[in-house]
Amino acid sequence: MANLLFDDRDIKFVLFDQLGVQKLCEVEKYSEWSQKVLEMLLSEAQKFSEKVLFPLNIDGDKDGIKFENGKVFSIPGTKKAYEDFVEGGWLTPCEEEELGGQGLPHVIMAATHEMFMAANFPFMCYVNLTHDAAKLIELFGNEAQKKLYMEKMYGGEWTGTMCLTEPQAGSDVGALTTKAVRKDDGTFAIEGSKIFITNGEQDVGDNIIHIVLARIEGDAPGTKGLSTFIVPKYCVNDDGSTGDSNNVTCTGIEHKMGLHGSPTTSLSFGDKGECIGYLLGKEQEGIRIMFHMMNSSRLEVGIWGQGISSASYLHALNYSKDRLQGQSLENPDPATQVSITKHPDIRRTLLMMKSYTEGMRAMLYYCSYAMDQEVIAETEEERKNWSKIVSLLIPVCKAYPTEKSVEFALHAIQIYGGYGYTQEYPVEQFLRDSKVACIFEGTTGIQGMDLALRKIGMGKGKVFADFLSGMDEIAEKAKEIPALEKYTDQFMKTKAALAEVPSVFADHAGNGESVYSFLQATPLLEAVGDVMVAWFLLWGAVVAQEKLDGIYAKKGATDDPEKQAKLMKKADIAHLAGKIQSVKFFIGNILPITDGRISAIKWGDLSTWETLDKSFGI
Ligand SMILES: Cc1cc2nc3c(=O)[nH]c(=O)nc-3n(C[C@H](O)[C@H](O)[C@H](O)COP(=O)(O)OP(=O)(O)OC[C@H]3O[C@@H](n4cnc5c(N)ncnc54)[C@H](O)[C@@H]3O)c2cc1C
Repeated sequence: MANLLFDDRDIKFVLFDQLGVQKLCEVEKYSEWSQKVLEMLLSEAQKFSEKVLFPLNIDGDKDGIKFENGKVFSIPGTKKAYEDFVEGGWLTPCEEEELGGQGLPHVIMAATHEMFMAANFPFMCYVNLTHDAAKLIELFGNEAQKKLYMEKMYGGEWTGTMCLTEPQAGSDVGALTTKAVRKDDGTFAIEGSKIFITNGEQDVGDNIIHIVLARIEGDAPGTKGLSTFIVPKYCVNDDGSTGDSNNVTCTGIEHKMGLHGSPTTSLSFGDKGECIGYLLGKEQEGIRIMFHMMNSSRLEVGIWGQGISSASYLHALNYSKDRLQGQSLENPDPATQVSITKHPDIRRTLLMMKSYTEGMRAMLYYCSYAMDQEVIAETEEERKNWSKIVSLLIPVCKAYPTEKSVEFALHAIQIYGGYGYTQEYPVEQFLRDSKVACIFEGTTGIQGMDLALRKIGMGKGKVFADFLSGMDEIAEKAKEIPALEKYTDQFMKTKAALAEVPSVFADHAGNGESVYSFLQATPLLEAVGDVMVAWFLLWGAVVAQEKLDGIYAKKGATDDPEKQAKLMKKADIAHLAGKIQSVKFFIGNILPITDGRISAIKWGDLSTWETLDKSFGI
């Protein structure tokens, strides 16, 4: 088993068989692409992930980022890998050619990013933050700013950061105090401190372009009064050359439980001399500008969760095939140890990890595909509909896979037994690395509230209701497959129960208990994630069964279980059969628990809110 990071067969299945993304190549915007070329790109991404990024990640975890005299030293090999990555066109995959991009659909980027992030998220932080910072300049900068900053960032010479967080302003970004003092020449003097800034100082690029959220002196408190500034580490002359230091000082790096290959820095702006910031976009539009990147940034973090989940599963699977312990249940023989994959509890854990991983993959790719549909929509109405679907999916796509990635890293450690607890294998690193994905880009709790209080209610609840009823078409097809009939019934039952939750929230709100939706926001997000994953798995199983039926018919195996069993020796065919098993496991083992979760959401308990602070001990 060569690749222990992601299942490239399943990636292609989801892209081309399930979602049919090759249809995008029929649209003018993507007409230069074909399935064959896209598959070639995927195998290039796979090679880079396995050969360059993953070994760098393992070294990065052991060596860690170094900080000396205000300078940060990246993991040796990072700069070269970054240059090669940029050279390969991976920094700007979806940008237009005139910006140095490849003009790829987002959904293909999602698949390559699953590969890259499964291999090395700390490295991908350089990529994602630089890309996102440059994107904001592309969208909101004036021509001079694009020429001076964006081109060098997209070209890979300079890197970027996003500077929002301050000690008193984390989730509550409106509480930030970094100020921008207006100067006569139209620029601003930036004064303040930021914490937890990824890549705030590093040696991978020749200059760092910070996108800083700050408040112009005298502007309103809260998020309304915030503006966005371009703040280079080194001042940039009109001809694009770099000059003196712009007085952005790195005062330290965090010592973290994981992500040792990624510098998480504290920055001070203007305490050693004047630090110049250039307004990006309009004054007081800072939050609107930052929110522009929110969907894609949150989706990216979700894809990282998927990457770690997938790497945890495949490492655990590979280990369990070789680890011999205990006797066969079918033919017990004290003299013969069997691979632990023969033990029901290990098989259950493996199939659970496999089914979640496949379902989440389809959910994340679908969300990226919906972003592509938004781009190519022919009418404004169509574009708006896709945009609403993306909005609905984003909090689930961010929070659900990241939470699962922590669970799956734990399951992987459990499957490795004592060895999983040692540093001999990377699964303990997966656990340490994974947790932060539930925290940055909006914590799980914040995503839950986004879903429960904003997204579920979009279009007076119609967007959510329509998305759920849109699932019926696949369910009807699944019901036609005898092996899936009772599973489809369970799916429909859970989905119907979920569809009632918004009215339960509305009833509570009508009774003066609007806090109820806040209390149940995170459980709701998990229930929505369960139903979505079940649906994407059901969809995959329907497609897999159609393909299997075609193969059986061609091989004269339609009513011949023996011939079918022989065909299963081929990995491609076993993969298709495995898709049916994934959905059976998920619906049979997870959705009944989801039913319980939904019952609890509807039950109406307010104890959390009613418990006195003093009873907590607060
Ligand atoms: C490794 C790492 C890299 C980072 N990189 C960057 C970066 O590049 N740029 C940047 O600007 N920031 C960055 N951050 C900061 C990150 O975005 C914040 O940590 C995150 O937004 C949470 O803020 P906080 O840590 O202050 O937690 P808090 O906001 O204090 O939250 C603590 C807990 O309270 C909950 N909570 C908070 N407010 C509410 C509310 N209103 N309702 C319900 N629950 C609530 C949260 O869900 C959380 O569980 C990074 C953080 C880390 C750890």
